[in-house]
Amino acid sequence: MTVNDGEINEILKSASARTPEEIRGILQKARGLKGVTASESAALLCANDKTLINEIFETAKHVKTGIYGNRLVLFAPLYISNVCFNECVYCAFRASNKELERKELTQEEIKSEVARLLKQGHKRVLMVAGESYTGKGLQYVFESVKSIYSVTDGKNNIRRVNVNIAPLTVEEFKELAKYNIGTFQLFQETYHKETYRKLHLSGKKADYDFRLNAMHRAFEAGLKDVGIGALFGLYDYKYEVLAMLQHIKNLEENFSVGPHTISVPRVEPACGSPFSEKPPYAVSDEDFKKIIAVLRISVPYTGIILSTRESAAMRGAALELGVSQISGGSRIDPGGYEEERGADKEKKLAQFTLGDHRTLEEVITDIVSHGYIPSFCTGCYRLGRVGKDFMDLAKPGLIKIHCLPNAMFTFAEYLYDFAREPLKSKGFALINKMMDDLPPETRYNASANLQEIKNGRRDIYF
Ligand code: SAM
Ligand code: SF4
Repeated sequence: MTVNDGEINEILKSASARTPEEIRGILQKARGLKGVTASESAALLCANDKTLINEIFETAKHVKTGIYGNRLVLFAPLYISNVCFNECVYCAFRASNKELERKELTQEEIKSEVARLLKQGHKRVLMVAGESYTGKGLQYVFESVKSIYSVTDGKNNIRRVNVNIAPLTVEEFKELAKYNIGTFQLFQETYHKETYRKLHLSGKKADYDFRLNAMHRAFEAGLKDVGIGALFGLYDYKYEVLAMLQHIKNLEENFSVGPHTISVPRVEPACGSPFSEKPPYAVSDEDFKKIIAVLRISVPYTGIILSTRESAAMRGAALELGVSQISGGSRIDPGGYEEERGADKEKKLAQFTLGDHRTLEEVITDIVSHGYIPSFCTGCYRLGRVGKDFMDLAKPGLIKIHCLPNAMFTFAEYLYDFAREPLKSKGFALINKMMDDLPPETRYNASANLQEIKNGRRDIYF
């Protein structure tokens, strides 16, 4: 695919001319959970009136609740290597950065990191790497996925490994698919070609088109779930959102399935990257919230991921706007889950500055206080409810029939195995409250499953 610049510019030209009544008409349509057109999304992005913006936020929350209910999926990033041959000006891992200490974890070190994540209560991991894999090439990535799945701690193990690594060829994607990965995640960074060229100075990643068409190759190779994203701060956010919508439309037209997730990273200060200290199109907190809300309204069926780049306050606000997955207790330096590493060491190895240093327990306590149920569910992937099958349930708002009970089961596991008071009591109170809202038959089955979990059974899902 190519991004149609002309279309984006045309849409943006007329977008700010919409009256408040027209904007409210768009929001009314959005409440039907069927999404809106690109021109309508642009009109929402261009809204400046505070009252209207609040109405956009309320609509986004309505859409999120309609599709997923009040569940919020939790995961942990696992950085296996910060060695990279590319030269992305915003990233601490870029090849020429002499301020960074380089580290590629061994398989044993990866297993130790996983063991630490299991002790926290994690079940889902996003494996992240720079682009190099010294010595063994892609085989290093494959072995790392295997290592992550291999670790057990009692009845606990990582049940889903998503990956955020460099784009691959169709043949390489076919190989990767054999390792039972979950979502293949890749951010275009900026969809604006000229800006992309200026910010990606050398290495394979300098090839804009190879990156833009990565998801097409991934689907062609048989992967079921892909996650897209843009790095906000590199170029005009309105352009990025509209280009992202073109990307999604193109995938839907060609493969009858869109992205499983959309990520919305903002550029954070990174060691050895003056660019990252002052990105040219830095997005304000208010605009950032608008981006999340408009994406939620425009692509109702897709998960929206917010990482630990954001502060606890922003992550709290984003829950209300339609974010459906967040990371918790994260470290973004290879080996970072090792205890007593210290802030100085972290800075020398990390990709950027963490915005949220809270532990998983603290993040979960906060989520529960917002009335959301933390979920470690991996049921859909295990039952083969992926790709189009997942979308066919998500689009009409039916996926929450699975998501909510499964969230309750995995949260109950967490509460029995890892939680302390007062979180334990508060968590079970939330589960009990949610039971009352389930349809009678689901409640009956869910209650039986919760009893089994209490008796020690694990990994139950609908
Ligand atoms: N190396 C692979 C790549 O570039 O696609 C995958 C891993 S890379 C570490 C993951 C993502 O980190 C990038 O896609 C980029 O969006 C994000 N990133 C890089 N520098 C960042 C910064 N300073 N602040 C926030 N996110 C950043
Ligand atoms: Fe390497 Fe990815 Fe960082 Fe670019 S963003 S320097 S490719 S790790």
